[in-house]
Amino acid sequence: MKRKLVSIQTVERVDPIEGADRILRARVMGWDVVVKKGELDAGDRCVFFEIDSVLPDGPAWSEFLRPRGFRVKTVRLRGVLSQGLALPVDILEGEVPPVGTDVREALGVTKFEPVLPADGTVAGPFPPRVPKTDEIRLQSALGVLDEIRGHDFVITTKLDGTSTTYFVDDAGELVVCSRNWSLAKGPSAQWQIAERYRLADVIPREMAVQGELVGPGVQKNRLGLAQVDWFVFDAYDTRAGRHLDPLELRAFCDARGLRCVPYERVVEGDEARSFDHSLDAWLRLAGGRYEGTTNRKEGIVVRPLVGRRSDVLGGRLSFKVIDNDFLLKDED
Ligand code: ATP
Ligand code: MN
Repeated sequence: MKRKLVSIQTVERVDPIEGADRILRARVMGWDVVVKKGELDAGDRCVFFEIDSVLPDGPAWSEFLRPRGFRVKTVRLRGVLSQGLALPVDILEGEVPPVGTDVREALGVTKFEPVLPADGTVAGPFPPRVPKTDEIRLQSALGVLDEIRGHDFVITTKLDGTSTTYFVDDAGELVVCSRNWSLAKGPSAQWQIAERYRLADVIPREMAVQGELVGPGVQKNRLGLAQVDWFVFDAYDTRAGRHLDPLELRAFCDARGLRCVPYERVVEGDEARSFDHSLDAWLRLAGGRYEGTTNRKEGIVVRPLVGRRSDVLGGRLSFKVIDNDFLLKDED
């Protein structure tokens, strides 16, 4: 499932906010969002903008966000967490499309993208047979909780760097990629990693190994590293068309001297069977500090121990849970 940044949704419920008579707390999908009283009520359809939406400069309905560069962020209003923006459907022209419809383009909304040091020079497109890395936010796909319930799973730490993929093609050639492009050979951090870990030799043909590049100069270097490093979270066999399962992945990395993202918890057996898969419990688990630092973690990524397809996502079952304190206090 591609993240629908802006879509038609239903207001599940509304609750009053103590001491505030002009606003309400509404629930849309898994998100709590503050709305104007009188504008939206329980059962109404709305246009829901997820966090990181950048509203167009022009329409009257986006004007209030001008001082914040039109970006929808996580905020606390009257002590209440508000994530996203819910507006009445009458901001749309013409007939209102069904619930779930993506209306981002119709409204001219773009997505906020943090500027990363585009260290490497683009050489060409991302290899078409390798999936790009991405994770859905739990609150946008609550149905995944029913899909993981009862199954063994692993929680890894979400590192806050830049996605980097190394692919060895059928000719044995190493392709080095940023999140969306392949990169020309050069002194970039991505190529330094390729050399340090001898990736051209250690990655089997037709396999892609994907991880987070972190360190000085990348995002905020919240791990406090002295030099750039790379932590693997995926390996994909393009011939078989499958990802290695988390424990296979760890063994794969160990055997090759590669580092995996931190495996915080492997939850199996009875513990997995009786695990509390509520949104609140997951949000609590997302919090914490990067090991060995006082820096708040961005969050966690959760995957079944044995890979499963998700009907909710229309692909592999995997999701991220971002710590709300991180979004409120630490996000750029
Ligand atoms: P959004 O999807 O919410 O709009 P986004 O596309 O920028 O935001 P990210 O917040 O960067 O997504 O989250 C997905 C990315 O997280 C992956 O592409 C990967 O680069 C990175 N990542 C970091 N740590 C992990 C981990 N432990 N497991 C999987 N991915 C991870
Ligand atoms: Mn994404």
